Amino acid sequence: MKRKTEKRRFPLRSLLAVAIIVILAVAIWQSNKPTKPASQPTSQATPQATFLFSEDEVKNLVNGLLEAVTPSKPENNYFTPLMQDKINWVWNEYAAGEIKLECVAVYAKNMDGTENRRVIASSGYYSVNGDSKAPYKPVIIIYGPRLMMLVRIQNRIFSGFDQKTKNTFALMVAQEAVHLEQPQAFYAEAEGNVAMHFDEEIRAHFIVGVGAVRQLRRIGQPLEVDYIEQDDALKECGYKKPCPQFRACLEREDKVPH
Ligand SMILES: [Zn+2]
Repeated sequence: MKRKTEKRRFPLRSLLAVAIIVILAVAIWQSNKPTKPASQPTSQATPQATFLFSEDEVKNLVNGLLEAVTPSKPENNYFTPLMQDKINWVWNEYAAGEIKLECVAVYAKNMDGTENRRVIASSGYYSVNGDSKAPYKPVIIIYGPRLMMLVRIQNRIFSGFDQKTKNTFALMVAQEAVHLEQPQAFYAEAEGNVAMHFDEEIRAHFIVGVGAVRQLRRIGQPLEVDYIEQDDALKECGYKKPCPQFRACLEREDKVPH
């Protein structure tokens, strides 16, 4: 979920993880838009005529990141329990066909329909039968152009990705999973409701900030500066709510990677 300012069990597991990744690799790029993720940035935008990166390049990056953040990988044992839990939830739901993951070739949209070039991912629910009625299933959308801009232009990683990008991506997946603790009815209600949306962002950022960012920072993992600023704000409140500094930080940030 996101808004204007923001900007988303293996053994037998390893085998299953590999299988999932292969499935993801095949399935991740879908240009058809999901039925209105309630979190408002939909992908029904006009096609990008000037996008710098090829579809294959974006697909490779996204699939590489999805593979890299697999919690069961030994090198990911620094992931906090929250990250493990949330990313595993996404993987397992995906394997069960209960969640859709999409990478789209457009930027996100703000509630007023304007393009939002800050948002990396959003989440919502889509109508399984395409009729805007139940049953609904969750969807996480990754905005390919935004991700490429972050990695290739802002962070100047000209091929593959670095550890900071991987952490951003892992936090983003975890955060979208936190949003998806909310039912479809919540998303529907929050659609177009800026205040409700922002409160939900604060809720999710707080959970991820306390349950992941703080620990990653403590062990010296590289993080985007936005996460560090948020962590500084939370620290001022002793990582307790309410935290006006944290709210102010999110309000002011127009570049939080989601
Ligand atoms: Zn969000």
